[in-house]
Amino acid sequence: MPNPTAFFEGKFVPLAEANVNIMTHAFNYGTAVFEGVRGNWNADQGELYLFKVRDHVRRIRQSAKIMRMDGITYSEDEMCGILLEAVARNGYQEDVYVRPMIYKSSEVVGVRMHNLEDQFLVFVTPFGAYLDPEAGARCATSSWRRIDDTMIPARAKVNGLYVNNAMAKTEAQLNGFDEAIMLNEDGHVSEGSGENIVMIRHGVLITPPPSDNILEGITLETALYMAEREFGLRVERRSIDRSELYIADEVFMTGTAAHVTPVVEIDRVPVGDGRPGVVSKQIQDLYFQAITGRLPQYAEWLTPVYQGSQVATS
Ligand code: PMP
Repeated sequence: MPNPTAFFEGKFVPLAEANVNIMTHAFNYGTAVFEGVRGNWNADQGELYLFKVRDHVRRIRQSAKIMRMDGITYSEDEMCGILLEAVARNGYQEDVYVRPMIYKSSEVVGVRMHNLEDQFLVFVTPFGAYLDPEAGARCATSSWRRIDDTMIPARAKVNGLYVNNAMAKTEAQLNGFDEAIMLNEDGHVSEGSGENIVMIRHGVLITPPPSDNILEGITLETALYMAEREFGLRVERRSIDRSELYIADEVFMTGTAAHVTPVVEIDRVPVGDGRPGVVSKQIQDLYFQAITGRLPQYAEWLTPVYQGSQVATS
């Protein structure tokens, strides 16, 4: 039986008891950084596989560094261990989403980052598909621009920054689309509200560079790595115009929540013939096999939760 449990204020407690005071700084000002990690259930093996835990822990630590949040003394290894233990204690036998967060926990009024206390928390929740991986996503270019590094760094997963993403997602969904594509201040394609974006033109995978205000995605790197290694495809990182997406052969999105999802339509223009692209589906298929522990060559990316392994080193 699942046992909803959180890591909160230094120990494991029932999720129902992991509550913050309304004066908490992070609640008032968005002064927190977070991650999303997937645990993928393999029913045949009776195992839940955490995907690239260490990469996520490294990224939350980088986010915290950018935000000058230096009050957390756990090492990288300790944080990986806490994540693994949190998932194991919850006991889910289905796909889960793991949410680590470092947040300004002081109960005090005043906008700043310094001279405040930090806390680290982890919770775990069952989580199925985010976008439809089979049908693909119908996207719209957002009227909300992607926030710039000179405003709130997009390479850090800052809680308050996600208002920008939420505005874009809501606009897209209320207009009848599945997902938003955000342009940056220069008018170049940046990313989805919770996904990186890749287009395929003339057999080359093209994705915006980090300087176009993307989150440096872990799923993106995974998909590009597999495309190069398994299919010998070339990868290019350069700025992309909105209209270039309209004439791309294929477009797909990547993200911890969205996995690898083909984009079938942008601003009501069909991508290719309007069906999920062949290469996108091949990459998606391989990715699903890898994250559920079906490809031994990628086992190093996974941490099995119930067979009590060490957290993967890569
Ligand atoms: N961009 C944004 C804005 C996101 O929130 C996410 C999800 N973390 C991504 C891209 C994809 O990153 P990742 O593959 O590391 O989950």
